[in-house]
Amino acid sequence: MGTSVFAAGSAKRRSLGIKDEEPRSTKQGFTPLNTMPLTLPTEPLGSDGWSQLKEKSNCQTRYEDRVLEGMLKMNTDLEIAKSFLSFVAEKDGDISYRFLVKYLVLCVQQNQGAEVCDVYDIMRMKFQSFDTGASSLFIRGLGKTDRWRESIAILETMRKGGSVSARNYADCVKAAIGHQERALAFTLYDEMVQNKMLLPEDALQSLFDASQDLQDDDYRRRLISILSYFRENQIYPGEVLMKSIKSWFESIPNEFWRGKLTKVTNGGHCQACNEQIESIHLTPEEYSILKKAVIDGIIKGEDTFRKTTPQELQAFLQFVNSRPPYDIVVDGLNVAYNSKKGIFSQTLLDVVSCLKAGRKRILVLGRKHMLVHSKKWVKQDIQRLQEYADCFFLDNISLDDPFLLYASINSGNHCCFLTQDLLRDHKACLPDAEIQRLFFKWQRGHQLVMPFYSPGNVRLQPVLSYDTIVQSTDTSYHIPYDRTDVVRTSFEVPKTWLCLKKEQ
Ligand SMILES: [Zn+2]
Repeated sequence: MGTSVFAAGSAKRRSLGIKDEEPRSTKQGFTPLNTMPLTLPTEPLGSDGWSQLKEKSNCQTRYEDRVLEGMLKMNTDLEIAKSFLSFVAEKDGDISYRFLVKYLVLCVQQNQGAEVCDVYDIMRMKFQSFDTGASSLFIRGLGKTDRWRESIAILETMRKGGSVSARNYADCVKAAIGHQERALAFTLYDEMVQNKMLLPEDALQSLFDASQDLQDDDYRRRLISILSYFRENQIYPGEVLMKSIKSWFESIPNEFWRGKLTKVTNGGHCQACNEQIESIHLTPEEYSILKKAVIDGIIKGEDTFRKTTPQELQAFLQFVNSRPPYDIVVDGLNVAYNSKKGIFSQTLLDVVSCLKAGRKRILVLGRKHMLVHSKKWVKQDIQRLQEYADCFFLDNISLDDPFLLYASINSGNHCCFLTQDLLRDHKACLPDAEIQRLFFKWQRGHQLVMPFYSPGNVRLQPVLSYDTIVQSTDTSYHIPYDRTDVVRTSFEVPKTWLCLKKEQ
């Protein structure tokens, strides 16, 4: 990398006819002067000053862009940036849209509300419409000024144009709540929920952090409904939002809530208050509702089996239904790929033989290409695999998730499945929110995960007996949250909880 940068610099020097004056320093690995980053002044310059600086610089092409980009990076004082724009205007007779937007970024970055308003007025006079980037900057910048309502108008325009993002909504919610317009803040929130968008955490936080004067019973009910939304959609707040939620509960007038950060025992009890956390297990009734929905929605659904043939589907159903129920269904390809460097068939065989040691009935879903002997797929391994487990080999292009789901759910509520995949795609196939909730609960309770793999050392993460989801009683809230310093993969659940108890 260093060499190529240097080479680029020297080529440029040659093309500009500049002599290499510092051979000694380059040999020592120093950056030669004329490939140094652009020089930016430390105070505003007049046009002459900028002209001279431009002449001295080593980049005549795209000089203006580079200066503005440099200013963004260095977070240069606005007065200096303004002096530069004056220079550009004098030289070119005008300032282009592109340069104005870059200047706008600088204003927003520095929270310079008055300047954002000025740029907004200038650009509105000069241009008929703005691109998404500029509109988003105006929403953010204006939202923090007395002219914040104009940011709501821009949001409206973007919404009509279909280019609005959750970030835009978040900035408007923050603007509304920052200006004591709680009804508007919640109208925007509702609009997002309707459009299946999730409000970014900083905006949710602004709702929980809002001044007490704004909060009446209705407001509090709205905040509680956000927690219900978390529950229904398996959302876990991050640590920063969790702290706002904790402070909010603790400051509800005339109710005496106390929050503690805690964990849950393997047996499913909160370590802070000893309350029993909801079980992960579905009731027989819930299970049969889910089973029917999965089989109807996912298995008979038209889209799901686009990648299979009716013959393959029939053969699979016959195969599964003619055998006793399984205890574990294994996503063969997914498990084999756990060890990228190893021999795939060996990894799969190793994992399945360990599972078999627990006297489990196992189904391995594989692909037909596994049956073709190769370095990665050794014939003898596959033969032994078939002694340990029932194996069904799908066509190479078939989508294996629906087969995995069918085989697991058809085997009964005790049957688990092993894959690192998420199965999120199937949410759309499930008819309503309640069934989706059951599905993801079933998934959390039945999906086996192998956090790491080394040959001969197969350790599965045990399925928890309790459900990791926001839950409440009349006098308690338990909210799983993500710690800022813990990276959680998407198929894992947080281990840290906020326990809130209402003292009587
Ligand atoms: Zn508790």
